[in-house]
Amino acid sequence: MNEEISITPSEVIEYMYCPRFIYFMLYLKIPQREEQRYKVQRGKEVHDRKTRINKKYLRKKIGVKEKLINQKLSSNKYNIHGVIDEILFLKDGTAASLDYKFAKDKGRLYNTYKYQAVMYSMLISDNYDIKANKAFIVYIRSKNKLKEITITKNDFKKVKKVLEEIIQIIKKGYYPKSTSYQKRCRDCCYRNICIK
Ligand code: SF4
Repeated sequence: MNEEISITPSEVIEYMYCPRFIYFMLYLKIPQREEQRYKVQRGKEVHDRKTRINKKYLRKKIGVKEKLINQKLSSNKYNIHGVIDEILFLKDGTAASLDYKFAKDKGRLYNTYKYQAVMYSMLISDNYDIKANKAFIVYIRSKNKLKEITITKNDFKKVKKVLEEIIQIIKKGYYPKSTSYQKRCRDCCYRNICIK
C-alpha cells in the first residue's frame, strides 16, 4: 500500500497503450495534447444513452438483489479509485460491476475492458468485503447486448503487477519499456522526447 498514490482505470489503460505515457504524464507531468489522448473518454453521449435503457430486463436476467448507481469508490489497499456505472449485488451472494460501453460487441473482449472490470472488482471487494468474481458489460451499439466477464485470481495478479509498475514509475521515475507497437509512436505527442 502506498497512501499518496491512487491510480484510475484510465491510467491503467494509458499504461497498456504505452507504459511510457505514465512516465511522461505522471512523473514528468507533461500533459498529452487532448486530441491525441487514447480514446478512453466515453463522453457525455454514453451517459445520456445509458440513462434511457430499460434496465429491468437486466436485473431479471442477471439475478440482481440490489444495485447502486454511479458509485465513486477508492481503495487504499490497492491504491486505486474510480467511478463504477453500477454495482450489482447478486442473489448468489456475490457482487459485480456493470459498465456501459458506447461500442459494438466485436466478439472479443478487449484487454482494456477486462482490466477495467478487474479494477472495479477490486474496488467492490475491498469496499464491501464481498466476492466480486464476475463483471458485466452492456454494448450500447449492439442493441444493449449484455456480456458476462469471469474474473480469475490470475486476472487480479496481472492487474496488481501493472499497478506496482505504475507506482514505481510515479514514485521513483522508473523509465519503463516502450510499447511494442511501433506504429503508435508515429502520432505520439511524446515522440520527440522519448528515448528509444
Ligand atoms: S514515442 Fe512511442 S514509446 Fe515513446 S511514449 Fe510515444 S508511443 Fe510510447
